[in-house]
Amino acid sequence: MSSLLIRGARHLLTGEAGSGMRHTGPRHDIRVADGVVQALGALEPLPGERVIDASGCVVYPGWVNTHHHLFQSLLKGIPAGIDSALVPWLAAVPVAWRPEIDHEERFRLAVRIGLVELMRSGCTTVADHQYHLYPGIGFDPSAVVFDEAQRLGLRVVLCRGGQTLARPLTDEAAPPSARPVTLDAFLQSVADDVSRFHDAGPRSMRRVVSAITTPNWSCRPEELRVMAREARALGIHLHSHLSETYDYVRWAREAHDCSPMQFVERHGWTGPDVWFAHMVHLSDEELRLCAATGTGIAHCPQSNARLGSGIARIPEALELGVPVGLAVDGAASNEAADMISEAHACWLMHRADPRGGERLRAKQSAAPGRAQRARSASQPGGDASTMQVEEVVHIGTAGGARMMGLSGVGTLAVGMAADIAVYDLDDPRCFGLHDEALAPVVAGGRPRLKALVVDGRVVLEDDRIPGLDLTVLRHQADETVRAMQAARG
Ligand SMILES: [Zn+2]
Repeated sequence: MSSLLIRGARHLLTGEAGSGMRHTGPRHDIRVADGVVQALGALEPLPGERVIDASGCVVYPGWVNTHHHLFQSLLKGIPAGIDSALVPWLAAVPVAWRPEIDHEERFRLAVRIGLVELMRSGCTTVADHQYHLYPGIGFDPSAVVFDEAQRLGLRVVLCRGGQTLARPLTDEAAPPSARPVTLDAFLQSVADDVSRFHDAGPRSMRRVVSAITTPNWSCRPEELRVMAREARALGIHLHSHLSETYDYVRWAREAHDCSPMQFVERHGWTGPDVWFAHMVHLSDEELRLCAATGTGIAHCPQSNARLGSGIARIPEALELGVPVGLAVDGAASNEAADMISEAHACWLMHRADPRGGERLRAKQSAAPGRAQRARSASQPGGDASTMQVEEVVHIGTAGGARMMGLSGVGTLAVGMAADIAVYDLDDPRCFGLHDEALAPVVAGGRPRLKALVVDGRVVLEDDRIPGLDLTVLRHQADETVRAMQAARG
């Protein structure tokens, strides 16, 4: 198989944490063959080798989005939910509008829009929490997600959601698409998806995860242990939503006299094979429980801000060693559902969070001078009490991949998957930067992609996806939104 050489980049970020993030040396050329990185450094083209000229570019590992709901890509900015908190938003947007997406053609279009949007930000792996599962569903959503991802060349982790119990707060007048399935039907759907699609390899293009929509409201507590046992027997991971709002804390306290993390721990839903989206409202004890068990967090800062849920305690989670990934969540609660927007917002949001300053002051008064040394040990100019740019890149790439068990994905190193975003800094927003390596995160806005490579295959070049006409996609989206609005009067 012929190889590919990405040559002449100004900087290369590896995805590794701390001082290993920056590839050092005078040259950052990268050779790709057989789906993996073959060599890094100063490389001369081989006879017949395809060369991508990356001069003026910076190279990142492809971003890893650890939580999404692709079907929501046709539900952006719905006025009834634009300024709502989680529960009224759920009722007004995803639950109310799901019947309009319950046609294969619309579902497929939504998935395509979401994947294309992510690709154009440099994302190469997408975890889709797909909870279209109800009695009598007339199409095969899992097959559609994998099919669209395969056409575009992306890696997908399909988190098979659904519910065995209706949620009283949002499902009272729910359409059939929000009705529960039996536990057996849920387990069977997960097992079927595993046998049809799942590949357990370290740089798998297709993973399946057991992912009831919430452990609190989507099933009976006693069913959680059965789901966990079945998933582990299949050798797959577990995923769900948890502690997105304070409602989760209140529910666990009132219904079970414990914290949400204690609740899931009691039912077997902690461990290095489990990650939860959001985790905004965690106590110190819950953070320590995540660290002790290796339970991960898909951090969704933009969605958490959009719904007014709060800011997750990610800098503290990282300090304790909790596995963390970055995620956009569904586009119905985050109209900027791409990884560049998410990374930029993540960096700024944590730096604006007053709790970071409080932690730094507490550390300095406890051991004067120590905080300063901790900073210089990790990043020059960084502040160990809040989020650093390189940390955002780490959780958005290697951190997320490791959390989901994709051990061959997420870093740019020899032998690892060749998932590579080559950003061209040819925009005035990047002119004048003293550290261009950080431009994709700090400059805000989407940088142009010179190339995007997934598992060694070029899937986007010169900012274009071969075979995809964005004008057509826009037209299809416009027509569909109009038809959906007309159907709802
Ligand atoms: Zn979600």
